[in-house]
Amino acid sequence: MKIDVLTLFPEMFSGVFGSSILKKAAEKKVVQYNVVNFREFADNKHQTVDDYPYGGGAGMVLKPQPIFDAVDSLTKNEENSKPPRVILLCPQGKVLTQKVSEELAKENHLIFVCGHYEGYDERIREHVVTDEISIGDYVLTGGELGAMVVIDSVVRLLPGVLGNEDSPLLDSFSSGLLEHPHYTRPADFRGMRVPDVLLSGNHKHIDEWREKQSLKRTYERRPDLLENYPLTEKHKEWIAEWKKCEKD
Ligand code: SAM
Repeated sequence: MKIDVLTLFPEMFSGVFGSSILKKAAEKKVVQYNVVNFREFADNKHQTVDDYPYGGGAGMVLKPQPIFDAVDSLTKNEENSKPPRVILLCPQGKVLTQKVSEELAKENHLIFVCGHYEGYDERIREHVVTDEISIGDYVLTGGELGAMVVIDSVVRLLPGVLGNEDSPLLDSFSSGLLEHPHYTRPADFRGMRVPDVLLSGNHKHIDEWREKQSLKRTYERRPDLLENYPLTEKHKEWIAEWKKCEKD
């Protein structure tokens, strides 16, 4: 996967792309990052990328020209038959979910556009961008942190990035449920014991315990996720059990 980032603050990305799983993914050549300061594309003497809004009002607006030209330069030699997804980080966009990350992980070229200031010229949104993504219902200073969040959640899904191929599938949300609790050694820490079933060596029982814990966590913390989840008869019985306990 090729990932281009258009930003006015390229230095923000060195720590994130140079650490942990994102760094390893680049070393394994599963992903290639290219961070571009779109100020370099400004066609005026002072390399200005923003201007006052037509109609007045507070704040500055990102001009269309540097973004249009930067995206053109990144796509002009495109070898892939599929055009890249051009993603604008934006509090008005579709809120990021695991499903969105899974969908983006199937692409081979993503271009992230990080906004700044009050906003950007609407023609960028209308003519350059294919997707608008928000990382939550709050306002950030710029799109950089949002781009990092999206990129992290996508890259860890690419085949060969995580050591254990199965692990992204078991993560919270991937299965549609929150993940079950984990324990490691010691079995008894200051009197707090690991559940016996995990020490039993019986994998059938362990799998069932994990499935039940995963469902219970989701039922308690994110019941909204169960609305579209295909519950089995066994799941319905467990939920009925917990409901009964709540009443008693
Ligand atoms: N005036 C804009 C509005 O009300 O929609 C907010 C602009 S914000 C100060 C500057 C930039 O930060 C945005 O252009 C966007 O790129 C980024 N940003 C802010 N909040 C975000 C969020 N929740 N998700 C993704 N990007 C965000």
